[in-house]
Amino acid sequence: MENGEWRVKIPVSEIFYSIQGEGKYAGNPSVFVRVGGCNLKCPGFGKNGCDSFYAVDKKYKNSWQEMSISEIIAEIKKYLRFNPDLVITGGEPGLYFERLYPLIKWFRGNITIETNATIAPEFDKYSEYKNVAFAMSVKLSNSGEEYNKRVKKEVIENIAKNAKKSFFKFVVDKDLKEEIEDITNGVDIPVYCMPLGATKEELEKNAPFVFEFCLKNGYRYSDRIHIRLFGKKRGV
Ligand code: SF4
Repeated sequence: MENGEWRVKIPVSEIFYSIQGEGKYAGNPSVFVRVGGCNLKCPGFGKNGCDSFYAVDKKYKNSWQEMSISEIIAEIKKYLRFNPDLVITGGEPGLYFERLYPLIKWFRGNITIETNATIAPEFDKYSEYKNVAFAMSVKLSNSGEEYNKRVKKEVIENIAKNAKKSFFKFVVDKDLKEEIEDITNGVDIPVYCMPLGATKEELEKNAPFVFEFCLKNGYRYSDRIHIRLFGKKRGV
């Protein structure tokens, strides 16, 4: 069944089927929809900025495809026989919460939205978002973004209060306890920490520290399966 809202378009960087490599649902077969565009730049993350620079930097805009919700659904349908999760990632999916809503209503399985948690959906108007797990990867000072741009406490609290399956996800390479506590304080959802690293070697170097850091602070450890197996390769 198609109606007007299924014709609304969203810039899509890539859609692929893989195993979720990190966070609460690590190991789950998942279809990933990566939207293009982000409201942050994260210049602190290496020479390209963030590790999904091709979904953020306007230089790569030509590689994004304006896709209608119908077209996105047609792609997802190719993998439904595997009973996958749906993961909407970016870039920043929050830029498109309203346009993405028909997709959220349509999909019958577990949905994760990977977000920097600076934008919240209108939960009262778009109530299906309450069943979504928001993987809140709030940016820390190592992102190079100003505090006021990257930490929106009211947005974090709103998401955690309305979408109960949500969790925090931080990339760690040193003792960032103070920063993590500042962000998570008073928000009662799980905190996952995972090792920084764009390659297997970097990941393995940081993993023992993050393991101890989680033990010491009562955080949950998450590995990053796709980096361990594939390094920087895209679409895996
Ligand atoms: S918020 Fe995420 S997607 Fe956006 S620039 Fe930073 S790391 Fe990249």
